[in-house]
Amino acid sequence: METLSKEKFSPHVLIFPCPAQGHVNSMLKLAELLAIQNLHVTFLNTEYIHKRLIRFNDDIQAFSECYPMLEFKTISDFHNEEEHPGFGERIGDVIESLSLYGKPFLRDIIVSEKITCIILDGIFGDLATDLASEFGIQLIHFRTISACCFWAYICVPKLLECNELPIRGEEDMDRIIRNMPGMENLLRCRDLPSFCRENQKNPITLDYVVLRSQQSLKANALILNTFEDLDFSILSQIRLHFPKLYTLGPLHHLLNATKKTSSFKSNFFKVDRTWMSWLDSQPLKSVMYVSFGSTTPMKRQEVIEIWHGLLNSKTQFLWVIRPNMVQEKGLLKMLEEGTSKEKGLTVEWVPQDEVLAHKAIGAFLTHSGWNSTLESIVCGVPMICWPYFADQQVNSRFVSEVWKIGLDMKDVCDRNVVEKMVNDVMVDRKDEFLGSSMKMAELASKSVSPSGSSYNNFHDLIQFIKLTAL
Ligand code: UDP
Repeated sequence: METLSKEKFSPHVLIFPCPAQGHVNSMLKLAELLAIQNLHVTFLNTEYIHKRLIRFNDDIQAFSECYPMLEFKTISDFHNEEEHPGFGERIGDVIESLSLYGKPFLRDIIVSEKITCIILDGIFGDLATDLASEFGIQLIHFRTISACCFWAYICVPKLLECNELPIRGEEDMDRIIRNMPGMENLLRCRDLPSFCRENQKNPITLDYVVLRSQQSLKANALILNTFEDLDFSILSQIRLHFPKLYTLGPLHHLLNATKKTSSFKSNFFKVDRTWMSWLDSQPLKSVMYVSFGSTTPMKRQEVIEIWHGLLNSKTQFLWVIRPNMVQEKGLLKMLEEGTSKEKGLTVEWVPQDEVLAHKAIGAFLTHSGWNSTLESIVCGVPMICWPYFADQQVNSRFVSEVWKIGLDMKDVCDRNVVEKMVNDVMVDRKDEFLGSSMKMAELASKSVSPSGSSYNNFHDLIQFIKLTAL
């Protein structure tokens, strides 16, 4: 073991997120929270992502000045700019290169910065396991996915053992999964994480995500961005394997409850604010907010079906169509020109938490990314879920069948279904969904208030970081 552990150091936390929008968003919130508590934090971004943060966030300089205890450092992701895989569908290539070549760079940072604790995105698996034991420092894994999906990954070997997996083709999709403690008879095959589907094209495979989840067992502690009242039955199962589990969520809500000024927005895209006056002019809870996160690609026909469903529905809509979401530029023009201002607006990228908190928003048509789901829960906004990949298939099942705060439109993209679901959530069953969503929002607020579970867990985490640095 190296000399680092023999000396007495003040706590210094290294936080290293996977270079994707949702991961950076939630892990940066944690960095900000720790810095507010006067802990020294180094936030490690890949150069590619840090450039985007500087380019699309005017306030990064001001943000850094606010927090002398929080510094940014960058690391190469070993891809050159011209052929860079980006942070979307090919993110697996970046995770792989960082896993293969990143260790010596992490080692240098641990030594030069006298790091006492690493909070590593759990998707990197055992990237820092040896380093942590070599230097005698704490290793905490942060999984930015939902608890239900993380638990599903942990259960996969058992499902394979009792022949509940693999999924045997399209006709098998509605088969009920039984051997999943905490969610027995709840998930159908189609509700399992997308990596359980054989035909999925993502370079990240089921073996890969299962292994990475099991590698978190070697960490000293695990952080999940959820709260006890939301996920209690799953969390009690996870704790049987990971006794030192800190649930700190919703992290953005904990941060907002902690500080008076608004928190830093880590946008990977240029923020569009052209929607503001339009949204201000809309009646209370009359607008459907539509966004499929930072990576979901859409086929032409999918865009057309969703568009017609929205046009035919009884409500207005505000739809985020990212510059990299559809290949065909003419399609965007068609949408813009074919939508009257009275009916809706398309925009490129918005500060989503602000939009969801707006009084005119009545519901959210979402891809069920975990950050988006939590942001919607916090604002008491019911959801229609159209999941694309990873944890989204499980999250959408929980939204509709466990939390009952929305509808699941998974594996369907038909204008009539879109229209019906929008009308259900916004008009016909509005009170039912609003009622359950508002109750869940109250529980989320309770969890981040003084003595709430996430509030307490966060303060326990600080003690853990401080004590173990000595
Ligand atoms: N987001 C945003 N503006 C947009 C669309 C998305 O700020 O126009 C943010 C959203 O608030 C969330 C993140 O991007 O924090 C997306 O993360 P999520 O886990 O929902 O999905 P992912 O992009 O990882 O698929």
